[in-house]
Amino acid sequence: MALRRDPHVLVVGGSDSSGGAGIARDIETISALGVRACLAVSAVTIQTHQAVTAIHHLQPSLVADQMRAALRANKVSAIKIGMLPTRRVIMAVAAVLSENLRIPAILDPVLASSSGRPLVEANAIDVMKRDLIPLCRLVTPNLIELAVLTGSELAVDDEDTLRQGRRLLAAGPRALLLKGGHAVGPRSTDILLLPDQDPIRFDTPRLATSMRGTGCMLASAIAAYLANARSLDDSVCEGKRFVFDKLRKNSAE
Ligand code: PLP
Repeated sequence: MALRRDPHVLVVGGSDSSGGAGIARDIETISALGVRACLAVSAVTIQTHQAVTAIHHLQPSLVADQMRAALRANKVSAIKIGMLPTRRVIMAVAAVLSENLRIPAILDPVLASSSGRPLVEANAIDVMKRDLIPLCRLVTPNLIELAVLTGSELAVDDEDTLRQGRRLLAAGPRALLLKGGHAVGPRSTDILLLPDQDPIRFDTPRLATSMRGTGCMLASAIAAYLANARSLDDSVCEGKRFVFDKLRKNSAE
């Protein structure tokens, strides 16, 4: 069959048997926004909503081959990257991205589950910074990931967050979205940071609820809007609204 011409988001990430996070959430989000998804699985995880009990890595060449086949089969207009379990998988994904630099890549730098289980080898952080982050259009760390990626203590305030963000921006992504969901206060603020520009803040009321997979949802929603040729600012604004609406519905249930 010929190449499919409708815009697709290529999802690269791990499966989560509970359905709470990972590629199931990604595909659900991208489909809800009317965009098609194609897929490269990087890991299989065995989890409930409470705990991760096992993680199985896929071979780096298997991940890269899935990506190349998805790119051959479809018009891929954005690539959303989530859990990458090992250094070698990160390097394999970076190699495919470097062959496809015109396609915007959104990296959610997943490091651990909310139950605290590491989802990436500890020695992979350097490679993520050196090989992968510079190829990304947008990287979306939460405050914990930001601290790990910059070798810092958890940011205590806005100024600290911006200082760490600027340090990570020096690693070469074209933009960062610093997610404030783990902070405290009545508002949940995410900060879009671009080189040589004032930070742009996206703000919603903080809801008294929590939900798994919101990081996956946000990065996937942004990728879906980018795939539909929306600007980065618009995509972040709409993506945040999408996640907020999901959280609001979840808190009403
Ligand atoms: N499992 C997989 C496969 C993921 O990709 C992610 C996050 O992206 C998680 C678990 C973590 O999700 P949570 O923070 O909801 O535990």
